[in-house]
Amino acid sequence: MDKLVSLAKRRGFVFQSSEIYGGLGSVWDYGPLGVELKKNIKERWWRSMVHERQDIEGLDAAILMHPKVWEASGHVAGFTDPLVDCKQCKNRFRADDPRIKGTPGQPDAQCPVCGSKGTLTAPRQFNLMFKPFMGPEPGELRCPNCGGGPFTDPRNFNLMFKTFMGPVEDASAVVWLRPETAQGIFVDFPIVQQVSRKKIPFGIAQIGKAFRNEITPGNFIFRTREFEQMEMQFFVKPGSENEWFERWRAERMNWIVALGIRSEKLRWHQHGKDELAHYAKDAYDIEYEFPFGWQEFEGIHNRTDFDLSNHQQHAGKKLDYLDPKTNERFLPYVVETSAGADRTTLVVLCDAYREEEVGGAEAAEGGAMRVVLKLKPSLAPLKAAVFPLVNKDGMPELAHRIHDDLRHHFNVFYDDGGSIGRRYRRQDEAGTPYGITIDGQSTQDQTVTVRDRDTLKQDRVAAGKLVEYLTQKLAG
Ligand code: ATP
Repeated sequence: MDKLVSLAKRRGFVFQSSEIYGGLGSVWDYGPLGVELKKNIKERWWRSMVHERQDIEGLDAAILMHPKVWEASGHVAGFTDPLVDCKQCKNRFRADDPRIKGTPGQPDAQCPVCGSKGTLTAPRQFNLMFKPFMGPEPGELRCPNCGGGPFTDPRNFNLMFKTFMGPVEDASAVVWLRPETAQGIFVDFPIVQQVSRKKIPFGIAQIGKAFRNEITPGNFIFRTREFEQMEMQFFVKPGSENEWFERWRAERMNWIVALGIRSEKLRWHQHGKDELAHYAKDAYDIEYEFPFGWQEFEGIHNRTDFDLSNHQQHAGKKLDYLDPKTNERFLPYVVETSAGADRTTLVVLCDAYREEEVGGAEAAEGGAMRVVLKLKPSLAPLKAAVFPLVNKDGMPELAHRIHDDLRHHFNVFYDDGGSIGRRYRRQDEAGTPYGITIDGQSTQDQTVTVRDRDTLKQDRVAAGKLVEYLTQKLAG
């Protein structure tokens, strides 16, 4: 992971926010290559969800919403992570930190300092991940950091960022930075349905920022306090939700595999009863094997009519749907697909990162080892780099002409600095799939060499055919 973080910084994919001030905890900026990569992922998601389907509409709802939205959704009361402190080492943990056994602070469980009564129920993932921290007695708990106890009772801590609207900072002016984009979709459901004249089943898709004051952020861009979500709520007739749930599970996995992610690094995880979010009847995570272990990066949830019925109640407005065929009124059920744009970007980066030995002319020119990002060409930030072999004999002029021409079609890069081997290596690290070299022959017959990042093979292509050649290669 350290190598990937270092590459991301070195090549300008992702680096710490406000670095000149020492950085801000778990907040990251996307540089020139990173912004392109994330944008390509988001555009691909949008294309497959909205443009290529007739049953999904797009939306861009505001980050700030009426504060009652978050009461209705359950986030004000329930979007909390209880904290526990270790009095011995002064460290603080989420009470549901999977390394900690028990549910700290519950009357039945008592204080989980040592769990001496053995009455604690195992929270999710407890048995799997907390084994190293379980003491010899049933329920005994040791701090995962220092090995001791005791823990304080948990204190509630809302994960939503609070701010104030207008000049007065009192309770009536409180607004929240949204912790998920989904609620914008729920409250806009009736208007989107009316203006688009969509009939159920249909969905609404949205990409946007979300904010969570995470207690344990980390692992680079895996868990951050400001992030982007790509969410889609699919509204269906009650009774058909299980069928749609399965359809969306298949759709989403196919989409991820089509990003070029190795399938052995992907798996499903179904939420057990004690893991399900307050709104969900059934939920599956798509997990990736990150360098730090298997973790979720997308969830498919059966949210029932939980959100629509709560908004209907809190807002006092009907949100039901009139089926024009049967004249029946009902509150739709919702199947949600919820992905993080940043986490998906991390999956793509982790999966593409390789260190390889190369031979032949490549080794002689650029060294025997190379770091390469084997990104799917259509996702790569730069599609091709243009290199004049030397900066004389008419090569730079021709290279500039080719670069100018290609720029109208693709994101391409011009590089005339250093040996050709070094230039190839720099583009390997950036994940650029094609390297176009203008050499002595090019000025004679207007052909160039195109080097393939993965096979290292070179094709000779007529300069006038480059757009066609690259368009074919970049499809998919
Ligand atoms: P986790 O348990 O990892 O915090 P979650 O179950 O709370 O995630 P959801 O609320 O289902 O996640 O959010 C859907 C998606 O949003 C996640 O699969 C993830 O890709 C992304 N996401 C959620 N929280 C964060 C975060 N703090 N940083 C980056 N991405 C996030």
